[in-house]
Amino acid sequence: DMVLAQLGEGITAALSRMCRATVADDAALTTCLNDVSHALLRADVRFEAVRAAIHNVKSTTNPSTLPPGVDRRRAVHKAIFAELCHMLDPGKPPFTPTKGKGNKPNVVVFVGLQGSGKTTTCAKYAAYHRRKGFAPALVCADTFRAGAFDQLKQNASKAKIPFYGSYTESDPVKIAMDGVDTFRKEKCDLIIVDTSGRHRQEDALFEEMRQLSEATKPDLVIFVVDASIGQAAFDQALAFKKSAPVGAVIVTKMDGHAKGGGALSAVAATRSPVIFIGTGEHIPDLEPFDVKPFVSRLMG
Ligand code: GDP
Repeated sequence: DMVLAQLGEGITAALSRMCRATVADDAALTTCLNDVSHALLRADVRFEAVRAAIHNVKSTTNPSTLPPGVDRRRAVHKAIFAELCHMLDPGKPPFTPTKGKGNKPNVVVFVGLQGSGKTTTCAKYAAYHRRKGFAPALVCADTFRAGAFDQLKQNASKAKIPFYGSYTESDPVKIAMDGVDTFRKEKCDLIIVDTSGRHRQEDALFEEMRQLSEATKPDLVIFVVDASIGQAAFDQALAFKKSAPVGAVIVTKMDGHAKGGGALSAVAATRSPVIFIGTGEHIPDLEPFDVKPFVSRLMG
């Protein structure tokens, strides 16, 4: 991955330059941290987050606070690693569905802009949980985009997941409620609701998300974001968070020219953890998100 690699290279180069400096003094550290800042900003991490991280690295690696004998270069490396992990950790575990809840199935609503990979990810998420022993079902509550139901049907059929939708009903809230009711009666334990990602008016989209989440009372709202949108992820995530109680993030298209910053921004805006990453167009291309390997890759 180009941008992740560049970010990693940027940080690695900065650290090795500091290692080559005769003394790891304040000047060498400042140069190093400037290089690291630039690498983070190039990867679309928000300026505020970069500034805070650099400030923390500076204070935790200050010679006056470091125990004697600790190598400052290693300390800086560790501190940067910790900062990146911290940026990706909102400090609370995500909701995870539990199997076979009888009359109270897990309801998970997916939100995100059109093109983010929401519909594909709904099917991937369903298939992932079926492999774990769940009885999932898909509901198409996207009444705005022509062909949305057909796409969900196609994805659902491919993954052999039951689905619900309508060609005639125009109220997404009604479809979502009917879908959840239908599958509750069929004893499904994980009901996944796909929603619209676009409207003629942006405000109408967010109002619809508000109504949908009020009506279906989801256990979890997942914000789906395309990894390649970079800095814009922050405002997008914030807008959805304002209308629905977003509790988790899925970053899609990590197999493309994905930018690490998108994930960092979405976490910052929603104060919710990344739970999965999308790594391709096919149903099995969904991986549980793991902070440390992700950051290790980021740092090269
Ligand atoms: P929606 O409009 O948000 O529902 O997005 P779709 O599910 O229709 O996806 C938009 C496009 O992105 C489709 O061509 C998908 O195949 C593709 N897509 C979704 N997730 C991924 C991913 O993780 N990697 C890649 N390469 N493509 C993806």
